[in-house]
Amino acid sequence: MTTYRCSSCGNRTRFDVESTTRSKAFHHYSLGGEVRVEDETVLERRVASVTCRWCGSGASVEAIEQVADETSPR
Ligand SMILES: [Zn+2]
Repeated sequence: MTTYRCSSCGNRTRFDVESTTRSKAFHHYSLGGEVRVEDETVLERRVASVTCRWCGSGASVEAIEQVADETSPR
C-alpha cells in the first residue's frame, strides 16, 4: 500500500492519481443479463502520475510505502 505526501505544501490526503489496473474477477451472470462481480484480484497496478490536489504540483509528490501485513512479492 502506498500513500503520498506533497513536499511543497504538506498535503497528505488529497491527490489525483492516474493509474492502470489489471485485474481478474469472477463475473457471475444472472439469466436476466445482470452481472455480479465477485472475487476481484488486482494482478498489477501501475501509477502513471500523481498530482497534488491542493497546489497542483506533480513533481513534489513523494510516494511513501506502507508496511503491509501481507507479504509482497518484491
Ligand atoms: Zn501540494
